[in-house]
Amino acid sequence: MTFKDLGIIDPILKALEAKGYTYPSPIQAQSIPILLNRKDLLGCAQTGTGKTAAFAIPILQHLYNDQYKSKGQRKIKALIVTPTRELAIQIGDSFTAYGKHTGIVNTVIFGGVKQGTQTKALQRGVDILVATPGRLLDLINQGYISLKDVQYSVLDEADHMLDMGFIHDIRRIIDQLPKRRQSLFFSATMPPAIVKLSQKLLGNPEKVTI
Ligand code: AMP
Repeated sequence: MTFKDLGIIDPILKALEAKGYTYPSPIQAQSIPILLNRKDLLGCAQTGTGKTAAFAIPILQHLYNDQYKSKGQRKIKALIVTPTRELAIQIGDSFTAYGKHTGIVNTVIFGGVKQGTQTKALQRGVDILVATPGRLLDLINQGYISLKDVQYSVLDEADHMLDMGFIHDIRRIIDQLPKRRQSLFFSATMPPAIVKLSQKLLGNPEKVTI
């Protein structure tokens, strides 16, 4: 089984080859067909399993194929929420690497730094936003970000979000998402509070456990 066998389009295959990826990891082999089918996904997986590419590749492919529909200014069509600055940067770098031949643009926002560089990038227009919860809500409240065009949403490392006290922020973010969207939820563990949160985000998801 190769990425080509999974139906990945050439501009993305070319980028994966450049990174030396030929074979999908188990989570990628299981998740990519589900996500290309536009189903919601509940993934029980840790970092280091190839989880980032499992969601980044299908999102890039959808946005690339949808491009002809979107005219004018770029709008945020995919939102990835992750607990830490380090993860946010890594995820942004992955979208940049896998998407380098697609023309799809991402930016990363996180707290603890001045917001000027981040708001300038947002004003230039992005297709994909990778964010930590606090800074995301802050920039939404200031009017720099609207989630009304989001079609693909990912909640990454949900159990860490809970441990870090982000649960209320996450609920507020989910409340702003359009009803019609594809949602993905990843957590290494699935205690009851996480299952409940996943039910708020997801509608009848396919489940993948690594
Ligand atoms: P992640 O779990 O998403 O943080 O990925 C863990 C590491 O595996 C990262 O350094 C990726 O660059 C690498 N990786 C992800 N998918 C593949 C693949 N299919 N083949 C080789 N390396 C991969």
